[in-house]
Amino acid sequence: MTTKQPVLLKPFERPEYAYEKLRRCRGCAAYTVLQEKECPSCHKHKLIPLEHEALSRAKLSMWFERLVVLVLGVAAVYFAGEDVPLLALALGGGILALVLLWRVQLRMLPQQTLRRLGQMLEREGDRIVHGLMEDREDAIEVFRSGDKPRTYEMLREIGYLMRTDPIKMEQVLLLQTFILRKDMDLMLEPLLMDHFNVDLAAYIGEIARLQRDLIKEKTFRYVMVYESEFRRMEGGEDILALVAAAAVRRSRYVKLYPHLLMRYAHRLPKDRFMRLYRIIAERPAAYRDELVTETYRVYKEKYQV
Ligand SMILES: [Zn+2]
Repeated sequence: MTTKQPVLLKPFERPEYAYEKLRRCRGCAAYTVLQEKECPSCHKHKLIPLEHEALSRAKLSMWFERLVVLVLGVAAVYFAGEDVPLLALALGGGILALVLLWRVQLRMLPQQTLRRLGQMLEREGDRIVHGLMEDREDAIEVFRSGDKPRTYEMLREIGYLMRTDPIKMEQVLLLQTFILRKDMDLMLEPLLMDHFNVDLAAYIGEIARLQRDLIKEKTFRYVMVYESEFRRMEGGEDILALVAAAAVRRSRYVKLYPHLLMRYAHRLPKDRFMRLYRIIAERPAAYRDELVTETYRVYKEKYQV
């Protein structure tokens, strides 16, 4: 077994939308999620967030519309010739049209920016995927240089947009080489894969021990689906008991995962078991009969004085 290393990981920013992580180069149109200063492709300092690019595109098309109205206004003035009332009408009408357009455009700017953003994501999808693949190549280079924490941080950024099993697996493998701590900015649900993975299972055990608040529905479901695989692995029963202990923190989880709790009630640490006992004793009718029976049995056997 390899020895684990102590590491310092940067906190991870979680924007509301994953695309907010993306930046686009104004020099070569390459995309990246790595928070570097220079473009990984052309090395120019021309990376800007996708939203900024969408905003400037929206503004550019608005300037074009204003230009069209202006040209029409000038043409009207020109054709009015020396007819003063007509000239006044053309001039006034042109200015009014321009002011109105400007006001409408100002109000439309947020929607137009969003529309441009949608267009870019749709039309430049291949380019974005290519950028993420390039980012991953860079991460592999950093891994080869021996900087595992930095590699993990890079994969974490890439994985926020590219949710594929290989990228999840690489992150989990790296995490398993670190000494994890309670105060670290860790994640679990984005790393759950579509199949059983021993390293992920071991990582779930560590999270259940260190940051049980990260264990939520998706993880409970993963554990229940692959319960027999967990049991077959070394230390798997301990992991299941830790996950069961994490389920006790909410009565809702006790209701949703009675089988998990039934099987591991006897292995829960005393404080966790007593919490389960109190939840059930308060409203036994709300929980699965077998779970109620098992909880009372364990209570009688181990804790009743
Ligand atoms: Zn570039």
